[in-house]
Amino acid sequence: MQNAWWEKQGNTWWVKCNCTKSFPASEQIIRHPTVKLRCPYCSAEFNAKDAVELYDPLET
Ligand SMILES: [Zn+2]
Repeated sequence: MQNAWWEKQGNTWWVKCNCTKSFPASEQIIRHPTVKLRCPYCSAEFNAKDAVELYDPLET
């Protein structure tokens, strides 16, 4: 993994989209009930609870 801006923010999770790609999202956004995540690969927008998978990169 390269150093990236999101790694400095701590609580970052990875979100898997329906298109099978995963992208990072902050825990703040994931816990927010109305803010939607937007997949950078297919532009899909969805709530974190509707994600195919959520996982903490530090625990995989
Ligand atoms: Zn996608």
